[in-house]
Amino acid sequence: SWLLDPLRGAALGLLLAGLLAAVAVAGLLARERAQAVATQAVLLDRLEEQSAMLEEAALLAGLGSFTCDPETMAFAFREELFALWGVPAGSPLRDDPDVFATHVLEPQDQARVVAAFDEGLAHGGRHDVEFRIRRVDTGEQRHVRSTVEVVLGPDGRPARITGAQLDVSDLVAARHAAQDAGALHRAVLAASPDVVFVTDVREGRPVYVSPSVRQLLGREPEEILGAGTEGPSRHVHPDDVRVLAQATVQACALGDGGVWQTRYRVLHQDGHWVWVDRRATPFQRDADGTVRQLLGVLRDVSDVVAAEERLAHAALHDPLTGLPNRVLLAARLRGLVSAGGPRAAVVYLDLDGFKRVNDTAGHAAGDAVLCEVARRLQTAVRADETVARLGGDEFVVLLRGRDDDDGTLTAARRVLRVLDVPVQAGGSLHLVRASAGVVLVDGESDAEQLLADADTAMYRAKGLGKDRLQLFEASLRDELAERLRVERLLRAALQPVGPVPHPRGWPRLGLAYQVVVDERGVVVGVEALSRLTDDDGVPVPPDLFVGVAEESDLVQRLGAHVLERALRQLADWRRAAPGREALTMAVNVSAREASHPGFAAQVLAALERHRLEPADLVLELTETSLLEAGPTTLATLRRLHELGVRVAIDDFGTGYASLRYLTELPVDLVKVDRGFTAGLPHDAACATVVRAVAGMAEELGLGCVVEGVETQEQRDALPGGVHLQGYLLGRPLPADEVDLGVRLARR
Ligand code: C2E
Ligand code: CA
Ligand code: CA
Repeated sequence: SWLLDPLRGAALGLLLAGLLAAVAVAGLLARERAQAVATQAVLLDRLEEQSAMLEEAALLAGLGSFTCDPETMAFAFREELFALWGVPAGSPLRDDPDVFATHVLEPQDQARVVAAFDEGLAHGGRHDVEFRIRRVDTGEQRHVRSTVEVVLGPDGRPARITGAQLDVSDLVAARHAAQDAGALHRAVLAASPDVVFVTDVREGRPVYVSPSVRQLLGREPEEILGAGTEGPSRHVHPDDVRVLAQATVQACALGDGGVWQTRYRVLHQDGHWVWVDRRATPFQRDADGTVRQLLGVLRDVSDVVAAEERLAHAALHDPLTGLPNRVLLAARLRGLVSAGGPRAAVVYLDLDGFKRVNDTAGHAAGDAVLCEVARRLQTAVRADETVARLGGDEFVVLLRGRDDDDGTLTAARRVLRVLDVPVQAGGSLHLVRASAGVVLVDGESDAEQLLADADTAMYRAKGLGKDRLQLFEASLRDELAERLRVERLLRAALQPVGPVPHPRGWPRLGLAYQVVVDERGVVVGVEALSRLTDDDGVPVPPDLFVGVAEESDLVQRLGAHVLERALRQLADWRRAAPGREALTMAVNVSAREASHPGFAAQVLAALERHRLEPADLVLELTETSLLEAGPTTLATLRRLHELGVRVAIDDFGTGYASLRYLTELPVDLVKVDRGFTAGLPHDAACATVVRAVAGMAEELGLGCVVEGVETQEQRDALPGGVHLQGYLLGRPLPADEVDLGVRLARR
């Protein structure tokens, strides 16, 4: 009955009660009268008194009674019956003994009524029949229930026939409405994937569960209901039993209409766990207001939970490799910091030359390499240790402390060794190495600091020549601070000067020029070298700020600045004196700068601006950066080279370029690294290298500059035909101090 709309249910209940009362009254009436015939006349008075009362009650109940003479079969209808049929007072129909059958009863129901009556006559007893009548006055159809009681005499023939009729139209209407409502509810429950249940709180037992439980749990409602006291929790996940119990307590504490929602797992018939959301509300209460029953709805939210889990996983993991990301790493590292025990290690890895894989083999191959590296790193650590990817080609490994620090560092070194074997990707093998910084968890630094320190150590490892492991030292932290200071200085110095000039003490970026002479001492070119001074006018070493620029977004701006100033200077020198048409200007270019898509256009535009020819410019790229240059960079250089711009390999001899490779590069000029010059004239190996490079350059039709010539002895030791650069010929100086005149001739 809980299914029914409460109002309709109440109406139905009321009507049912009324009907039962009326029927009881009718039965009582008949019995009393039968008795009255058989017993003494003393009772007659009381009987009449009672029957008067009963008749009144009957009238009140809308009950019309009649009698039928068993001998003549003539009916006698009482007033209330005519009222029920709508036969007005004074109507001739009132005198018609067949009025009921001919004018009132609907013809379709005639047969049933006659059958019921005949049944009564044949066997005696009480017979109920329900039928429709049409009211005489209004023509309205009504539903009537009739009770006929036949008392049989000793001969088995009817001795007394009494009856009563009651208008049950309202009842029937209510019953239909209830049936409709019931059907609606059943349909709703059947169509809904949600499961409706009612639980008896005290007994802890379900008393109703809707059929959709079949879909939700693959179980029959009867199975759930029959599960007994432990029913609700029998199929609940052990970890969720308490959650559910608490939810029930909470729901019972709610006022009417309140809903308590909770989520837990239930076992499906086929053995998998189903996540459900349960919304429960108080349903039935005891007189004192305690909740006796809870009504609830269960909804399958497994998909929602799975989606939430995926989201949570995505928030904490790198999508490419599936490794923990920075967020999860930080959490794990915090756990490691507070764990105590032997000193754990944070290993910060950055792949060397990974960009080259991307550039030469494509991004898909790059991704494949990263995934393979991720996989290998995981094989190098224990199950409870963490390998995370911070993005790009940076990974962090958290190692638990081994027996002692040496053991831990050995474990860290072993991590790097997984990259000894080349990685297969995009149809070719790639030898990827990594530079690693490692810091030991000392209980003083927090997670963030440890990560920063490991990162700092990694930078040092890179700076020292890659493919190595660097242990963090406090001094590296100062170095990092210094780099940050330099970056700030450089950024300020590169800020364009507006109408208001920079104040005094502002960091400044200037250019120094160093001459290049031919073997006779004639100045054939000038190299522009950047100079940065800090707020106090103290120079910052170029290797430092150029390195900082290369690591940040500043290198493009630095390069553009140098190119513009240097070309303007060359144009000025050309204008200042005749005979300088062959003088070239060399600028240093970082690999990152040359890889920028707009680089070639920028160079050509600058030449154009100063009315210079492409051949007036030399672009110097270090051997290392040329070796690591991707196809786009090489294409750019080739294009410039074909247009006449000269390209020089700087610091030649430090990058192990094969001679064959040299022929494939778009270069015009080789600059022998000053490290070799320093060994002259006594170091035989250096002398050999210088001679070999000079010979090879001549062979290939390339120019050759020997850098770092500081002494006359060194100059004398050089092979013929090479150009010279170095303190002996001129230090890097501001433009107005540079001497472009001929140098001393050779001995
Ligand atoms: P580099 O291109 O090899 O430049 C030559 C370096 O050797 C300069 O150092 C110069 O001062 C130094 N040098 C010249 N003659 C002698 C000598 O006889 N003996 C010794 N010991 N050294 C000599 P500097 O100016 O410190 O520059 C260092 C490096 O910084 C340069 O090496 C170059 O790679 C880079 N660099 C300088 N300016 C720029 C720039 O504007 N852009 C880029 N990308 N790199 C630059
Ligand atoms: Ca140079
Ligand atoms: Ca050089």
